[in-house]
Amino acid sequence: MAVPFRLSRLPALSRAAVDREEGLRGDTERLRSRWSRARVLPLDSRGRAPVPYDGSSAAGTLALRPATSFGSAPPDDAIFLGTEPGSGTSRGIDYWALTGRDAADGRTVTMPGRFGVPVENVLADGELWVGLREHGALLDDAGAGLFTTALALRNWHRRTRFCAVCGGANELAKFGWVARCTACDREEYPRTDPAVICLVHDDEGVNGERVLLARQPYWPEGGYSVLAGFVEAGESLEGCVVREVAEEVGVDVRDVRYLGSQPWPFPRSIMLGFAARADAAQAVVPAAGEIADARWFTRRQVLAALDGEGELRLPGNSSIARVMLFDWAVA
Ligand SMILES: [Zn+2]
Repeated sequence: MAVPFRLSRLPALSRAAVDREEGLRGDTERLRSRWSRARVLPLDSRGRAPVPYDGSSAAGTLALRPATSFGSAPPDDAIFLGTEPGSGTSRGIDYWALTGRDAADGRTVTMPGRFGVPVENVLADGELWVGLREHGALLDDAGAGLFTTALALRNWHRRTRFCAVCGGANELAKFGWVARCTACDREEYPRTDPAVICLVHDDEGVNGERVLLARQPYWPEGGYSVLAGFVEAGESLEGCVVREVAEEVGVDVRDVRYLGSQPWPFPRSIMLGFAARADAAQAVVPAAGEIADARWFTRRQVLAALDGEGELRLPGNSSIARVMLFDWAVA
C-alpha cells in the first residue's frame, strides 16, 4: 500500500562531518595550542571557496590550507568551525575559516549555474573558486558542512556590524560566534531566517499525480520550482505554508506535513520543507509581480526534467526543492 513520500536522503547542505564543539569557542588557549595542525577554509570577498581543478572538472573536496600559512596563531577574524569527529581531546584537527581572502592573480571563468544561468568562478593556481549554491552538492559531507557553516557566519557578520539596540559598533568574539556591542555590551548570536518551502500535489491517491510549480519573473524560461516564502512574525510554520500558497497562486492546501530542512545561507535562511495536498480543480492565480506563471506538472514531466529532458527546468542539486521533487516523483 502506498505511503506518503518522505525525503530519502539528506539535502546537500544539511550534510556535515565535523563536530561543532561549541564549548571550545571560548577556550582561546586550547585553540591556539592546536593551531599549528589546524586546517583553514579561505573564502573570497564574494563568499566563494577553492576546490582543486584539473582543467575540466572541479573536485568534490575543499582545498583547505595549513593554518600556519596564515600566521603562528589564529588571526583576529578567524572563524572556528569545529573539530574532526572523535578528536575533542588534544589529538585531531581543528577547522577554521577566514573570509575576504581573495585569490591572487586569478582569472574569471564563466560556468553554467542555477537553471543553466552562467555564474562567475575564479581560476587560480590549479584551483577553482566556486559558490556554495552551484557546487555544494558536489562536495563530500565534510566539505559541504564546513562551507555551509563558514558562509552562514560570513553572511551574518556582514549584517551585524552595529548593535540593534543602541547602534554602537559590534565586535566579534568567540571566534566568530558572538557579536558584542562595544557601547552597551549587548551580545547577538548568529541569526537564521526561517522560510517554508512546500511541494503541493493533487488529490490522486496518496501522493498525487501532479505537482504545482511556479516561476518567478527573473527566472529563465522553463525554470520552475515548488512554492516558498519567509515565515512572518507571530506565525506558525504550517500557517505560513497555507498563507504563502494562497498568496502566491491562490490555491487552498490541506494536510500540511513536514519533510525535512536544510540551511540556505543566501544570505541567512533555513528552508523548512513541507508537503501539502490541494484540489487541482481550483483556479491557479499567480500573484502579480511575484509569480510569472504557475501550473500543474505531471509526474512524467518532473521525471523527465530530473533527467535533463523536456522543456521544464528544475532547481539545482544543492536545493532542497530538488530533493523534494525527486522523492515525490519516484514515490
Ligand atoms: Zn549596544
